[in-house]
Amino acid sequence: MKLIFLGPPGAGKGTQSERMCADYGVVQLSTGDILRANRKAGTELGQKAQKFMDAGELVPDQIIIDMIKEELKKPELSKGYILDGFPRTVPQAQALDKLLEDMGQKLDTVLVLEVPNEELVKRLTARRVCRVCGKSYHLIFKPPLKEGICDQPCGGELYQRDDDKEGPIMNRLKVYEDQTFPLIDYYSSKNLANKIHGLGEIGDIYSRIKTVLDKF
Ligand code: ADP
Ligand code: ADP
Ligand code: ZN
Repeated sequence: MKLIFLGPPGAGKGTQSERMCADYGVVQLSTGDILRANRKAGTELGQKAQKFMDAGELVPDQIIIDMIKEELKKPELSKGYILDGFPRTVPQAQALDKLLEDMGQKLDTVLVLEVPNEELVKRLTARRVCRVCGKSYHLIFKPPLKEGICDQPCGGELYQRDDDKEGPIMNRLKVYEDQTFPLIDYYSSKNLANKIHGLGEIGDIYSRIKTVLDKF
């Protein structure tokens, strides 16, 4: 299964991907996680991306396309993958179409997780992320078992991302509307888009996703 997970920042893409990976044996490819890992490691890519990320702006298309081209070659993706956070612009989507065509691959579906902005702000301002494995928590809606510590075997420290503060959040929501929202039409016209109502309990939303995925 190969799919794109589309949705605004804070919609729950990471949270739901975790379950999908466990159930369907696919791998999650999150461009945000890859960029954050590069920043932590101090790579050239990480340094180039830093200022855009902290401001809640998109990293330039060509940097992202070059990065994803390398990622898609990895053998661990052979059983299928979830693209989380990519593509985010029409040029990225066009570049992906070309890459997949060159590799002889086809997407099964594009899940579009829909959540209103008011709820996104509530989810993002209290999000906490594991420094080690990247898993996300919420101070109220999904707290860790032990305060400040990841539940996973990594036991990593939880932190608040610099872009999960109010200024960058507002910018990210606007960037989504301006640059990423048009992708819903892009994939609808290819008959690939499946909209998922993203409000409610995490488990209920997952059931909606499963109903769609079990068709493939
Ligand atoms: P969220 O999960 O909250 O939507 P991400 O972790 O996906 O956030 O992305 C964090 C930041 O990384 C973005 O605000 C942007 O600066 C950068 N980024 C991630 N993916 C892309 C992409 N496909 N194109 C451009 N920038 C990206
Ligand atoms: P994304 O990857 O789309 O940016 P995340 O999966 O990181 O989103 O979720 C954003 C925040 O919202 C996290 O703090 C997460 O724990 C919380 N969250 C995810 N799903 C729900 C939900 N259904 N109800 C309430 N909070 C949620
Ligand atoms: Zn962890």
